Amino acid sequence: MQERLGSDFPAFLRSYEKPPEKGLRVNTLKLSAEEFAARAPFPLGETIPWEKDAFYLSEEKTGADVYHFAGLYYLQEPSAMAVGEPAAGCSKKRVLDLCAAPGGKTTQIAAQMKGEGILIANEVNYARAKALSQNVERMGITNCAVTSALPENLAALFPAFFDLVLVDAPCSGEGMFKKEPNAIPEWSEENVAMCAARQKDILDRAAEMTATEGRLLYSTCTFAEEEDEWQIEDFLKRHPEFSLVEMRKLYPHICRGEGHFCALLEKKDGETRRSRTFAAIRNAQAENAYRTFEADFFAEPLTGLLHTLGDGRMYLVPEGMPDLSGLNLLRLGVELGEFDGKIFKPAHALAMAFGGRAKRRLSLSREESERYLRGETLPTDLPNGWCAVCVEGYPLGLGKCVNGTLKNHLPKGLRKIK
Ligand code: SAM
Repeated sequence: MQERLGSDFPAFLRSYEKPPEKGLRVNTLKLSAEEFAARAPFPLGETIPWEKDAFYLSEEKTGADVYHFAGLYYLQEPSAMAVGEPAAGCSKKRVLDLCAAPGGKTTQIAAQMKGEGILIANEVNYARAKALSQNVERMGITNCAVTSALPENLAALFPAFFDLVLVDAPCSGEGMFKKEPNAIPEWSEENVAMCAARQKDILDRAAEMTATEGRLLYSTCTFAEEEDEWQIEDFLKRHPEFSLVEMRKLYPHICRGEGHFCALLEKKDGETRRSRTFAAIRNAQAENAYRTFEADFFAEPLTGLLHTLGDGRMYLVPEGMPDLSGLNLLRLGVELGEFDGKIFKPAHALAMAFGGRAKRRLSLSREESERYLRGETLPTDLPNGWCAVCVEGYPLGLGKCVNGTLKNHLPKGLRKIK
């Protein structure tokens, strides 16, 4: 670092005497940053300069808060939000986040997309893909599919397909030594070289999937040139069809955040996009049962393609979703619920994505919500039937009102343990 930074090196070293910066990004799919600031139950710091919907935080114990459960915000290291600005200027009809777990950048880009277009969030590690899928659900994202595939398997299916491909690459993590000290003993020159070789392969697959006039956004949380500037230089030599739009490097002594690097590339020419269109599986009986539920639960019908799997699980898939058959699929649009051959039972995901539009909503205070999150039943004067349970209007899950009592339908795995 001394060689790289020269006279800046002492300031860089001094930055390690301070604790790591923490950040919170408001989920603007649910409310604006101003609305969140007005109700935040813990102190918020200044707005993060490169992400207008995010704030610095002075305390970390905010993941257990009921607003977090309601998907009103995502906790993210401030510099990791730096891809937001370059992504904002890109066309986002079809977006791929190739290395997506746990979902910081997926949820940030989904907020920019405002439910328009389609977003494929992929994570090769299945356990991490599950966490990603839960975050997509919590944030109420409606236009996203979550897959767990190797980059080469996706590339075989989607040549020149996406307007924007994000590669937030696995890296040597030099920029995260303060936040994740366990990355320090894992660092070695060999590991940097290994990461760089892996990133090269991932980038080549990402290049294949970028549509003509589309963009590739590459990022790492390391300072190593082999994984950053030199990686991009090599990429441009191998791929003359791409040109560099912009490159940014964030250092902890220059900005309030940890280390981060991102480069935005544009594909000038190449092959024509080949489309794989999604074909919904129709099941008249299941759809009738769902439509009966929908007419009772929502004031207006939802828009999208109804898709019913053989086991009765039903999804609402956004128009424009490509065919994902052959891939390990964890989430496809919004899971609406399940048809058991007789009745339709709504899913938690339906409440998180569309609960705000339900006719019957039980709006709880923050204190009452804690009881709901613990799985307790609650008194209610709502008429009998399914209802969206909300904290101050923001959906938390489902309940069923039966003669003055709300039966708790929050999935057991999501409940808070006392
Ligand atoms: N984008 C995420 C976010 O904002 O929350 C963080 C992604 S993390 C920096 C990099 C991810 O790449 C990890 O989840 C890791 O499992 C995944 N990964 C590891 N090896 C990979 C490979 N060969 N191809 C694609 N992804 C890989």
